[in-house]
Amino acid sequence: MIDPEIPTNDLLGQRYQALRKRVRQAEAACGRKSDTHLLAVSKTRTADEIRGLAALGQFRFGENYLQEAEEKIKQLRDLPLEWHFIGRIQSNKTRSIAEHFDWIHSVASLKHARRLSEQRPPHLPPLNICLQVNTSGETSKDGHSPESLSSLLMDYASLPNLQIRGLMTIPAPAEGDSDMAHPFRLLRSLRDRLSSPQLPLETLSMGMSNDLEAAITEGATIIRIGTAIFGPRGYNH
Ligand SMILES: *Cc1c(COP(=O)(O)O)cnc(C)c1O
Repeated sequence: MIDPEIPTNDLLGQRYQALRKRVRQAEAACGRKSDTHLLAVSKTRTADEIRGLAALGQFRFGENYLQEAEEKIKQLRDLPLEWHFIGRIQSNKTRSIAEHFDWIHSVASLKHARRLSEQRPPHLPPLNICLQVNTSGETSKDGHSPESLSSLLMDYASLPNLQIRGLMTIPAPAEGDSDMAHPFRLLRSLRDRLSSPQLPLETLSMGMSNDLEAAITEGATIIRIGTAIFGPRGYNH
């Protein structure tokens, strides 16, 4: 869906094409075929910027802040976009998340998952979810510990209006010469261990603008990219 109104030589278009090339190169470097899904992280960006990117063929968008997302989703209803929630979930916001989004990457509590399943409107397909895993030990609070996951999995899987698609992680910033790939390798091995024919976990949501190469090498199926597409964010949140 190339829109002739929007010149592909503008800055957004240039960044987007450069990023796609970077992804293809990373895939080629580790012998993968070109199958990494690109989630454009559009937090703090305007509906017009999203529209511009959609005109270049991007249709998956990730948002962190619910109120901001609701507004943009409303403004962009005329486009066939797929909306992914990647922010921290608050208990009193689960209903709106269940109503507005197609995917949630940041599920880190069974209590939230139960509410999301109960509040998913019946006319919509099951909500796709990834379980967030804390791969950085004490340095990050968000996500289930790798050890706790196997005993929780069947409880998650029993929730009728959720479809568990896989695992997600946000590594703590790498310090010094620490191995950037380590959290990604951990997530992948966890996925390989927990995935089963009854509960296939095909999704590894990992990799952002600074570390997408390491994530792709370790098997990311969805990378979440903001800055490398849209440029630096002004932090208003
Ligand atoms: C903001 C954000 C991203 C994108 O980060 P960039 O460094 O801008 O690519 C990815 N994942 C999550 C969970 C985020 O909050």
